[in-house]
Amino acid sequence: MFLLTSLLSDVECCVPTGKTVMLVLQGSRWLLQGHDVQVVSTDYISRAASRMIAGQLGMALSADPTPPPTPGSVILHLYDFTNREADVQQAVTDLLARVKDGQLHVLLDEALFGGSDVSGQRLTTLVARLAESVPGLHLWAAGVLHTDIPPSLRPEPLTVPLRCAPSVLREVQKAVDRYGGVHNYSDSGVPAPGDGLRVIRLSHHGNAHTGRWPAECRQCGKEIAAELRRLGVGSGGNSLPNSPAPLSYCDVFIITRSSELQDDIEDDAGRVTSRASGVVRGLRDEGLPVCVLGEQDLRHNWARCERDLHDVAVAATDRVTVTDWCWVQGLERRVVVMLPGRHKEDDEGGNDEAIDVDDRLYAVSRCSTQLIMVDVPTVTTATSTAT
Ligand SMILES: [Zn+2]
Repeated sequence: MFLLTSLLSDVECCVPTGKTVMLVLQGSRWLLQGHDVQVVSTDYISRAASRMIAGQLGMALSADPTPPPTPGSVILHLYDFTNREADVQQAVTDLLARVKDGQLHVLLDEALFGGSDVSGQRLTTLVARLAESVPGLHLWAAGVLHTDIPPSLRPEPLTVPLRCAPSVLREVQKAVDRYGGVHNYSDSGVPAPGDGLRVIRLSHHGNAHTGRWPAECRQCGKEIAAELRRLGVGSGGNSLPNSPAPLSYCDVFIITRSSELQDDIEDDAGRVTSRASGVVRGLRDEGLPVCVLGEQDLRHNWARCERDLHDVAVAATDRVTVTDWCWVQGLERRVVVMLPGRHKEDDEGGNDEAIDVDDRLYAVSRCSTQLIMVDVPTVTTATSTAT
């Protein structure tokens, strides 16, 4: 029996609103009440968000001018439910060892329960085991598919946007309007300070551009770099109105949808065996420091990607992050560049309309201030012109 189990429902039934922020606020409340907070990441999709939550909770505690005499601690747990079945039992063991006075306080972000995904099924098992074993389980989860909610959790859809400018919300709204499974935004009742900035549009089109998608294109990388320079990124300045802090490289996400995105792949001797994606090379041509989080990088160098995910989550290193959208769920940046693309599985029946909805709900929604969208010419055949 739960004392309290709440769930902040998700993009499948809810628009992107700032659910991770709510987890941080709830975690802060528990800490100040003296409870230890267990931040649990069960696979790579929740890594960055979980690391960010743990980092922000730690900072919130140290910044409190009047901390309680015995505040709680933040414990970050990292598992790989996708590849290691034994991690489920390990997580149960680790978390039950943290029960104090019959209570356990757990935060789960990007918690994709159940479904056909093995990681989601194992996550459902974890929550069921905790519910059976801990009478005083306080568990908040966000980023949950509405179709597979464990029965012990109570859905609380959030529809009030907490962070995006109206101009960005309108781009997300285009997905909401087309996708019947998403709750619409509610009026926050508080007028926005302004409409936000005009969306900047670039185009992956013209003689110098190569490849079917912008992630493959060196010229796109150069043109994105020029646009970021124009905004003042990395110069110690900032051309964004109503946003006085200088724009750093780490304020920028370049988000795509690609199974092929990668940095240079090296062998054990340090020789490059496969060059970085075109957009990455174009950005570096223009002198921008870049961090790449792609599926190929994860496959070839998981340890480096774990470090980079941590760096990105807490903005520890001043670099522009180029990433597939699935690695940065729960995070946001002041500047987001959206590059259309395709995953491998999309070629086996991917629907352009559904992909555009995903791009807006998962990638565009990472932006708080300045959105840059790269348009791609429509093609009528599936042939690729990649070079
Ligand atoms: Zn291009």
